[in-house]
Amino acid sequence: MNKTAKFGGTSVASASQIKKVGQIIKDDKDIRAIVVSAPGKRFKADIKVTDLLISLFEEYKSQSPSYIKTLDMIILRYTEISEVLGLDKSLVNSFKEILLGFLTTIKDEYYLKNAIKSSGEDFNARLIAAYLKKIGLKAKYFSPKDLGIVLEYSLEDVHILNKTYENISKFKDSEEILVIPGFYGYSQEGNRLTFSRGGSDITGAIVARGLSCDIYENYTDMTYIYSANPSLFKNPAPIKNISYAEMRELSYNGFEIFQEDAVEPLLDTNIEIHVKNTNKPTEGGTIISQTRTDIDKNPIIGMSDVGDFTSFKLTEYLMNRKVGYIKNVLDIFQYMHIPVEHIPTSIDSVSILVRSEYMGDSSKKSSIVNAINNSFDLDELVMDDSLKSIAIVGEGLRNQMTKALYLISEVLNTNNIKIEYIIQGASNNSLFILINKKNEEICLRSLYKAIYEDRLLEK
Ligand code: ASP
Repeated sequence: MNKTAKFGGTSVASASQIKKVGQIIKDDKDIRAIVVSAPGKRFKADIKVTDLLISLFEEYKSQSPSYIKTLDMIILRYTEISEVLGLDKSLVNSFKEILLGFLTTIKDEYYLKNAIKSSGEDFNARLIAAYLKKIGLKAKYFSPKDLGIVLEYSLEDVHILNKTYENISKFKDSEEILVIPGFYGYSQEGNRLTFSRGGSDITGAIVARGLSCDIYENYTDMTYIYSANPSLFKNPAPIKNISYAEMRELSYNGFEIFQEDAVEPLLDTNIEIHVKNTNKPTEGGTIISQTRTDIDKNPIIGMSDVGDFTSFKLTEYLMNRKVGYIKNVLDIFQYMHIPVEHIPTSIDSVSILVRSEYMGDSSKKSSIVNAINNSFDLDELVMDDSLKSIAIVGEGLRNQMTKALYLISEVLNTNNIKIEYIIQGASNNSLFILINKKNEEICLRSLYKAIYEDRLLEK
């Protein structure tokens, strides 16, 4: 059995956490490679090293002298870790040189930002490799360049090139445990490119696939992935098994534990993802796999608050007879670089639903309203930015959609919650309910009670 284990920010935030990581690796001979994040938060008000690095870049760019203080704070985080782990000082001393080297030599702002951001994981991997060696493990630092993680930046997104997997496969028989920084790879030209936030999860998946591992272990500070937000519900139902498709829906729609693009490299494989807790490695755990077996018992796997939504409702008499109408409306959103999430339609109206985070300030909103008004001869245009979307996800919806819709309507009606929109996901494993923001909490609580406490779907 071969495993790749990825340790998230809280698992590698301090020397005491890194010692736990060392113990986990010592206790499990199947772990062939580890992928590490940058040091995350040690306590609630702490600042993640990646956020410090982003500030460093911004301050340097705007020529603010405060960048020196930020640089010192970053180095201090590693000095503290290195001292407690009893590592050689020269390693951390080199980190300052590396950062200053990037700041003064990389002229392209985008590549500079990526190089600075990626350093949090790079430095941590170097320290952790040194520590693992110190405690007697055969471990070695490998950069994404050594492994051949090749990425491409196109259309404002970073994509994994397929040769990456072949490159990594050459390390399958490595005698040493590979210690790899997460979150970044290299362009063909040799520039560092980072994934989106939380992207070390993606590196973990890439390495697990490249090494043809049986299991990809993903260590965080939670024992399970839960069926609803644990900061809102006391002891929400733990998820013991979830399918890749369900996990992708939930990650995309608000679950923060697993990066939304991290399942993608594993979609065509039989590699299972085990989500585990660094602080309690032998307890619990959520298994993410191609299929799950308890769909009948557990039709809805999770419920999440997707966040704020804005709708643009266009009304024009007999709109549906005009061929290409929706495409013309969507062109405006494409031009403004705003992804569109849902498009409910009727004879005379179409609503464009977008995540409010993409809307920016009020000038962007009025620019869209003006563009729509100038392009169409509308009877009415209504913008509503007071919406919330709640996602209900589960493979069991496929066979129980009617019952689920009935149940949800009944619960919301009893609680006097007006449904603004209800959308059945085309893949049939998700449902989205859009309501006014003010009803968010009551909506989540009443649905949670009906689905998970009273288990009405199973009756
Ligand atoms: N350090 C990066 C972040 O904070 C990536 C990661 O932790 O996965 O987003």
